[in-house]
Amino acid sequence: MRVVLALVIVALLLSTILAVGGGGSRAASSASGQPPEASGAGSLAGLVFGDPEASGSLTQPVVFSTSFRADAPPDRVELLTRVDGTATDEVREALVQPLGDGSWTATVPSIGFTPPNTLQEFRFRAVDGDDVVLGPTEEFRLVDDRFEWRTLSEGPVTLHWYTGTEEFAQRALRVGVDAIDQAAEMLGVTDVRPVDFFVYDTTEALYGAMGPGTRENVGGQANPLIRTMVGVIRPSDVDSDWVDTLVTHELTHMVFADATDNPYHQPPRWLNEGLAVHLSEGYDVGRRAQVADAAAHGQLIPLSGIAGLFPTTYDRFSLAYAESVSAVDHLIETVGRDALVRLITSYRGGVTDDETFLAATGADTQDFDDAWLVAQGVTRPEPYGPRPAPRGPEPSDWQSDPTSSTAVGDSRP
Ligand SMILES: [Zn+2]
Repeated sequence: MRVVLALVIVALLLSTILAVGGGGSRAASSASGQPPEASGAGSLAGLVFGDPEASGSLTQPVVFSTSFRADAPPDRVELLTRVDGTATDEVREALVQPLGDGSWTATVPSIGFTPPNTLQEFRFRAVDGDDVVLGPTEEFRLVDDRFEWRTLSEGPVTLHWYTGTEEFAQRALRVGVDAIDQAAEMLGVTDVRPVDFFVYDTTEALYGAMGPGTRENVGGQANPLIRTMVGVIRPSDVDSDWVDTLVTHELTHMVFADATDNPYHQPPRWLNEGLAVHLSEGYDVGRRAQVADAAAHGQLIPLSGIAGLFPTTYDRFSLAYAESVSAVDHLIETVGRDALVRLITSYRGGVTDDETFLAATGADTQDFDDAWLVAQGVTRPEPYGPRPAPRGPEPSDWQSDPTSSTAVGDSRP
């Protein structure tokens, strides 16, 4: 049972979404989100890029390369990569080598972990002072080449699998489509963008696709940035309830991301996870008991403590999910489902947490947090975290009254 529980405890690890790049890379874009315009005058006149290429996979090093002709090598050549659907380029300097006939090659190896199915646009640019020449743009999708994938599609969902029959895949796909439909209907999302859903047959295979830093207990993950969900479903388990739970949970995150997408501010994690648990499992007896037990023992984490990353230890990690769905349940009980939906979707406007909670519930986040704690029969605990240090000793002639001081500076401590 613990194994099954562990499999359905899932984490939305936005912080590990992408580790493309690494040392020496930097994000670069102008206010418009576009790189500097190509001019090609001056010292770069006559420089012409060939088509850029990318090779590699999950198991083979990724290398971006191009060739170009020029009278003299430019000051530097850079690779610009951009995850499809985003507005920011990552820039890395290329290694330039002469071919001896007036042409050069420029290459950049990829550093760090790129999740499979990441689609990137890439191009090279030559830079010499203010002079810039941009090369043509190509796309590269990183493939998990450890398996022979088969695919099935319905609506916005494309299922990729490699073990099991087509019936197995049909069943998993059906769960995925239903999950998307349920969340999209609730949140009023009419344009769910395509989602790729990759089914692995072992935890080891899944972890290979999620890269270093993956937490334990993760049975699946939704990565809205690259519109990709990964999960473990053994063919023998496809009729288990927890498959519905896992898939519904993760794909709810995908629709939540569509419903709240904005460049300024992410909703609190407990709200995202709470909705995913609410729609996949509900606030069940086990989670109610978990919250009640934590409340009785003074162990409840205020919601402000689970607005960001969840705790690492299994018990606290599990409690954070129980509290999340408890808080969503409390929202529905007190202000209703429509207000919850308004609250979630208002994030799309880039509002702050307090603004959206005030508009939807009449209470700011602190008041809502306190009201939820009171509903659990407890009050806000004293924070464990760092406190301001006590004042240290001061020099005996310290001038603490600014009106009596003619010295330079001021007398603030
Ligand atoms: Zn989740």
